[in-house]
Amino acid sequence: MPHPKSVRINKIKRIALVAHDHRKPVLLEWIKYNKGTLSGHELYATGTTGKLIRDQVGLEVHSLISGPLGGDSQIGAMVCEKKLDFLFFFWDPLAAQPHDPDVKALLRLAVVWNLPMACNRATADFLISSPLMNGTYERELVDYEAHLNRQLP
Ligand code: PGA
Repeated sequence: MPHPKSVRINKIKRIALVAHDHRKPVLLEWIKYNKGTLSGHELYATGTTGKLIRDQVGLEVHSLISGPLGGDSQIGAMVCEKKLDFLFFFWDPLAAQPHDPDVKALLRLAVVWNLPMACNRATADFLISSPLMNGTYERELVDYEAHLNRQLP
Protein backbone atom coordinates (compact mmCIF):
# COMPACT_ATOMS: atom_id res chain seq x y z
CA MET A 1 0.00 0.00 0.00
CA PRO A 2 1.46 3.42 -0.90
CA HIS A 3 2.51 5.61 1.99
CA PRO A 4 -0.15 8.31 2.67
CA LYS A 5 0.94 11.82 1.72
CA SER A 6 -1.05 13.63 4.39
CA VAL A 7 -3.35 13.17 7.34
CA ARG A 8 -6.46 15.26 7.92
CA ILE A 9 -6.65 17.08 11.24
CA ASN A 10 -10.37 17.50 11.92
CA LYS A 11 -12.07 20.42 13.59
CA ILE A 12 -12.25 18.45 16.82
CA LYS A 13 -8.63 17.64 17.52
CA ARG A 14 -7.09 14.71 19.36
CA ILE A 15 -4.68 16.34 21.78
CA ALA A 16 -2.13 14.59 24.00
CA LEU A 17 -1.02 16.33 27.19
CA VAL A 18 2.04 15.16 29.11
CA ALA A 19 4.21 16.79 31.77
CA HIS A 20 7.10 15.60 33.87
CA ASP A 21 6.64 16.11 37.60
CA HIS A 22 8.37 19.51 37.93
CA ARG A 23 6.54 20.77 34.84
CA LYS A 24 3.08 19.58 35.88
CA PRO A 25 2.15 22.86 37.65
CA VAL A 26 2.98 24.87 34.50
CA LEU A 27 1.01 22.55 32.24
CA LEU A 28 -1.97 22.53 34.62
CA GLU A 29 -1.98 26.32 34.80
CA TRP A 30 -1.85 26.47 31.01
CA ILE A 31 -4.70 23.96 30.71
CA LYS A 32 -6.80 25.95 33.22
CA TYR A 33 -6.18 29.11 31.19
CA ASN A 34 -7.19 27.36 27.98
CA LYS A 35 -9.97 25.23 29.47
CA GLY A 36 -12.64 26.69 27.20
CA THR A 37 -10.72 25.91 24.02
CA LEU A 38 -9.48 22.52 25.18
CA SER A 39 -12.96 21.39 26.25
CA GLY A 40 -13.95 21.40 22.58
CA HIS A 41 -11.36 18.77 21.71
CA GLU A 42 -10.60 15.16 22.57
CA LEU A 43 -7.94 15.00 25.26
CA TYR A 44 -5.46 12.24 26.07
CA ALA A 45 -2.83 12.24 28.81
CA THR A 46 -0.33 10.00 30.52
CA GLY A 47 -1.68 8.52 33.78
CA THR A 48 -0.69 11.01 36.46
CA THR A 49 -1.04 14.06 34.23
CA GLY A 50 -4.52 12.86 33.24
CA LYS A 51 -5.61 12.37 36.84
CA LEU A 52 -4.48 15.90 37.74
CA ILE A 53 -6.29 17.37 34.73
CA ARG A 54 -9.51 15.64 35.78
CA ASP A 55 -9.20 16.46 39.50
CA GLN A 56 -7.79 19.99 39.31
CA VAL A 57 -9.25 21.34 36.09
CA GLY A 58 -12.38 19.23 35.68
CA LEU A 59 -11.80 18.34 32.03
CA GLU A 60 -12.64 14.94 30.60
CA VAL A 61 -9.49 13.19 29.44
CA HIS A 62 -8.59 9.68 28.24
CA SER A 63 -5.94 8.52 30.69
CA LEU A 64 -3.19 6.30 29.38
CA ILE A 65 -0.52 4.43 31.33
CA SER A 66 1.75 6.57 33.54
CA GLY A 67 4.75 7.88 31.56
CA PRO A 68 7.55 5.95 33.29
CA LEU A 69 5.49 2.77 33.01
CA GLY A 70 4.99 3.03 29.26
CA GLY A 71 2.62 5.96 28.71
CA ASP A 72 5.08 7.92 26.57
CA SER A 73 5.53 4.86 24.36
CA GLN A 74 1.75 4.44 24.19
CA ILE A 75 1.46 8.02 22.93
CA GLY A 76 4.33 7.37 20.51
CA ALA A 77 2.40 4.40 19.09
CA MET A 78 -0.71 6.57 18.70
CA VAL A 79 1.36 9.12 16.79
CA CYS A 80 2.59 6.40 14.38
CA GLU A 81 -0.95 5.08 13.96
CA LYS A 82 -2.19 8.61 13.22
CA LYS A 83 -4.51 8.55 16.20
CA LEU A 84 -3.30 11.91 17.57
CA ASP A 85 -3.20 15.41 16.11
CA PHE A 86 -1.27 17.41 18.71
CA LEU A 87 1.25 16.85 21.46
CA PHE A 88 1.80 19.22 24.36
CA PHE A 89 4.76 17.69 26.13
CA PHE A 90 6.26 19.75 28.95
CA TRP A 91 9.34 17.64 29.56
CA ASP A 92 11.83 18.61 32.23
CA PRO A 93 15.25 19.70 30.96
CA LEU A 94 16.71 19.77 34.50
CA ALA A 95 15.84 16.33 35.82
CA ALA A 96 17.00 12.90 34.78
CA GLN A 97 14.07 10.66 33.90
CA PRO A 98 14.05 6.90 34.41
CA HIS A 99 12.24 6.59 31.10
CA ASP A 100 14.53 8.92 29.16
CA PRO A 101 14.73 6.55 26.14
CA ASP A 102 10.91 6.62 25.91
CA VAL A 103 10.89 10.43 26.17
CA LYS A 104 13.44 10.72 23.36
CA ALA A 105 11.55 8.18 21.28
CA LEU A 106 8.33 10.17 21.62
CA LEU A 107 10.05 13.44 20.66
CA ARG A 108 11.60 11.68 17.68
CA LEU A 109 8.35 10.09 16.48
CA ALA A 110 6.52 13.42 16.64
CA VAL A 111 9.11 14.80 14.21
CA VAL A 112 9.05 11.68 12.02
CA TRP A 113 5.27 12.11 11.58
CA ASN A 114 5.27 15.92 11.35
CA LEU A 115 3.02 16.20 14.39
CA PRO A 116 2.45 19.69 15.83
CA MET A 117 4.22 19.60 19.21
CA ALA A 118 4.86 22.15 21.94
CA CYS A 119 7.42 21.48 24.65
CA ASN A 120 7.12 24.76 26.54
CA ARG A 121 4.45 27.27 27.44
CA ALA A 122 5.34 29.92 24.87
CA THR A 123 5.12 27.46 21.99
CA ALA A 124 1.91 26.06 23.47
CA ASP A 125 0.44 29.58 23.57
CA PHE A 126 1.24 30.19 19.91
CA LEU A 127 -0.03 26.78 18.86
CA ILE A 128 -3.37 26.95 20.64
CA SER A 129 -4.07 30.50 19.50
CA SER A 130 -3.27 29.76 15.84
CA PRO A 131 -6.19 30.39 13.44
CA LEU A 132 -5.41 26.92 12.06
CA MET A 133 -6.85 25.48 15.29
CA ASN A 134 -10.35 26.51 14.20
CA GLY A 135 -10.76 24.34 11.15
CA THR A 136 -9.50 21.27 9.37
CA TYR A 137 -5.90 20.99 8.20
CA GLU A 138 -4.03 18.63 5.89
CA ARG A 139 -0.93 17.61 7.81
CA GLU A 140 1.68 16.72 5.24
CA LEU A 141 3.68 13.59 5.84
CA VAL A 142 7.31 13.25 4.89
CA ASP A 143 7.79 10.96 1.89
CA TYR A 144 9.51 7.87 3.27
CA GLU A 145 9.10 5.85 0.03
CA ALA A 146 12.85 5.90 -0.59
CA HIS A 147 13.44 4.48 2.87
CA LEU A 148 10.74 1.82 2.46
CA ASN A 149 12.14 0.73 -0.91
CA ARG A 150 15.81 1.01 0.00
CA GLN A 151 18.33 -1.52 -1.19
CA LEU A 152 19.25 -3.78 1.68
CA PRO A 153 22.90 -4.81 2.11
P1 PGA B 1 2.77 10.89 34.17
O1 PGA B 1 3.85 10.66 33.05
O2 PGA B 1 1.76 11.81 33.62
O3 PGA B 1 2.19 9.52 34.43
O4 PGA B 1 3.50 11.45 35.35
C1 PGA B 1 4.48 11.76 32.45
C2 PGA B 1 5.83 11.34 31.94
O5 PGA B 1 6.71 11.14 32.76
O6 PGA B 1 6.05 11.22 30.73
